[in-house]
Amino acid sequence: MEGDCIFCKIAKGEVNSEIIYENDNFFSIFDIHPKTDGHSLVISKKHFENALDMPSSLGAELLDCIKNTALKVMKDRNAEGFNILNNNFEAAGQVVNHVHFHILPRKKGDGVSVVG
Ligand code: AMP
Ligand code: ZN
Repeated sequence: MEGDCIFCKIAKGEVNSEIIYENDNFFSIFDIHPKTDGHSLVISKKHFENALDMPSSLGAELLDCIKNTALKVMKDRNAEGFNILNNNFEAAGQVVNHVHFHILPRKKGDGVSVVG
């Protein structure tokens, strides 16, 4: 439900969150349960349930937000790489039904498993 959606509340400023980067259609914040140092989320400002619901025309802005978020958190956390993860539907581990892309900064030999 859009009215109860935590990411819609953050997008509207009803719940406070530190914004890492934003453009017209996307913004990024830090994940409250980080899997790696600097784990962040790129989130659409409008409520789309998953990547299939998102208009393809937003692709360039999505990539802009992903790139700028990854560059900033990698620099701030001295990371050497990053993973992009997008869970779609419950079977694939989606918990928040508002499309978002995980940015997971990585360091050599950190032993992190990013799936699941
Ligand atoms: P997913 O399994 O892809 O749906 O992941 C949802 C992610 O959102 C999880 O990693 C949560 O820790 C994160 N999350 C949920 N609520 C918040 C919040 N209020 N602020 C930041 N991250 C959140
Ligand atoms: Zn939403």
